[in-house]
Amino acid sequence: MTRKPRPPRGPNGPDQKLKLFLKDLAGMAAARSWGEQLAVDLKDFADGRIEWKDVDPGLLIYGEPGTGKTTFAKALANTCGISFIATSYAQWQRAGQGYLGDVLQAMQADFAKAESGAPSLLFIDEIDTFPTRGNTMRNNEWWTSVVNALLEKLDGIGDREGVVVIGACNDPSGIDPALLRAGRFDRKIQICMPTIPDLERILKLHLPNNVRGIEDLPSVAILCSGMTGADIKKLVRDSARLARQQRRTMSLQDVVAAIEGGRPAVSPEFLRRIAIHEAGHALAALQLNLTTNINVSVVNTGSTWGRTVLQHEHAIHLTREGLDATLAMLLAGRAAEMAVLGSVSGGAGGSRESDLAAATRLATDIVCSFGLSDKHNLAWQGQHSVENPVLSDRRIFDEVSDILNKAYGRSLALLKSDRAIVEAIADALLTKRALAHDALITVVAAARSMKRGDGMDVVC
Ligand code: ADP
Ligand code: ZN
Repeated sequence: MTRKPRPPRGPNGPDQKLKLFLKDLAGMAAARSWGEQLAVDLKDFADGRIEWKDVDPGLLIYGEPGTGKTTFAKALANTCGISFIATSYAQWQRAGQGYLGDVLQAMQADFAKAESGAPSLLFIDEIDTFPTRGNTMRNNEWWTSVVNALLEKLDGIGDREGVVVIGACNDPSGIDPALLRAGRFDRKIQICMPTIPDLERILKLHLPNNVRGIEDLPSVAILCSGMTGADIKKLVRDSARLARQQRRTMSLQDVVAAIEGGRPAVSPEFLRRIAIHEAGHALAALQLNLTTNINVSVVNTGSTWGRTVLQHEHAIHLTREGLDATLAMLLAGRAAEMAVLGSVSGGAGGSRESDLAAATRLATDIVCSFGLSDKHNLAWQGQHSVENPVLSDRRIFDEVSDILNKAYGRSLALLKSDRAIVEAIADALLTKRALAHDALITVVAAARSMKRGDGMDVVC
C-alpha cells in the first residue's frame, strides 16, 4: 500500500482543512454575536438552567456567494460542540430518481438525521430556491408540495429539542413569506462583503504560517478589496501553486503575482515610473504629516497600476492649511516623476478618480464651497464636480489653477530635496510590490540615514 504524502505542516497551511470557530471568522459581527448567544443558551439548556422554548433555534443568513455563510454555520456548530448536517434543495433533488416523492423523502431524511443526532445544526443552503407558492409560472403544484413539506418540518423543529436550523441564501426577497413567519426563519441576518481589515484577517487565516513578507499584509489586503472570503481562499491556493512550481517557500509576492494573474506586463521603464509616482505620494503624505497609516503598492489590479492609500487621516483637513497639504500630496505623484525622471506622464490625469481630478475638485471647493478662497469670497456656489460649469468662469478657473500650481510647486520642492528617498521607496516597491506603513517607515529611515551619512566613517 502506498501512503499519500502528508500536506505541509502548520495550522494555517493552505492544504490543511481548517476547523474554524466563531472567534476565527472575520467580519459578520451580527451573525457571530447571535451565534455566541446561541452557544451560551445551548450550554444553559444542556445544564438544565433554561428550557428549549427559551432558545432561539432558527436563523436565515443571506449575502453574496462566497461571503462565508456555510463557513459561519460550520463554525457555529464547532463552537457549540454540536453535529453539523449540511443540505440544500439541490441535494434533495438529486436523491433517487428526482421525483417529488424522492425529494420529499430526502428532505425528511435530513431532518430525521438532525433529530437523531441532536444536539445538532441543520444547515439548509439556497433557501431562495423555494419560490413563493402560487407565484411561479411553471410547476406550481410541485413547489407547493415541496414548500408545504418544508414548512411542516420547520414547524416541528420547535418541539424537537436540540435541533438548530440555519437557512442561507443570496437574496431573501423572493422567498415564500410563509418560510419567514414567526417560529420559522423569522430572524434574518445579512452577511456583508468583507471590509479591508476583514480581508486582512481572512488572508492571515488561509496563508501558511511560514509565508515570507507577512509584514506587508495590510497593503496586500487593500489590493484584495472587492473580493469575498471564497476569492481569498482561491487566491491563496493560486499563490501556493506559483511558489510550489518554483520549489520555494511562499511569499506575499506570490499573492501579488496571483492578483495580477495573466494581465499583460508593462515595460520595466514604465513600471519604474509608476513606482516613483506612488513613492512621491507616500513620501509627501509622510512629510506633510497627513496620516499615521500609509499603504502603497505597484500592482496591476485591473483598475489601476499603483495606489497609495492613507488611513487614519489626521483631522486637519478642513483647515486651509490641511487642504493645501492634501492638494500637495495628491499632486506629489506627478511631482515625483518630474523630480526624479525629469519628465511627467499623463498618469496623474485621465479619469474622474485621477489625481488631477481629485485635486481640481478639492481646489474648486476651497474657492466655491468652503469659503476658504484667497480672495475671502464667502459666496457658496454649490459643491463641485470637476465638470461643474463654475470652472468656465475665468476668475474662478484662475484662482483654482493658482491654488493647484502652488501645491504642485510645494510638492516638487519637497521631493526634489528628498529625491534619494523617493528613489529608495520606489526601489523597495519594485522588489516587494506592496509596502505597509511600518515597512515604508523602515525604508525611509534607512534612506535618510544614508543621506545624512549615518553609519559611515565621516572624517571631518
Ligand atoms: P458561502 O456559503 O457564503 O457561499 P462559504 O462559506 O462557502 O461561502 O465560503 C467559501 C470559503 O471562503 C470558505 O471555505 C472559507 O474558508 C472562506 N471564507 C469566507 N468568508 C470567510 C470569513 N469571514 N472568514 C474566514 N474564511 C472565510
Ligand atoms: Zn497618483
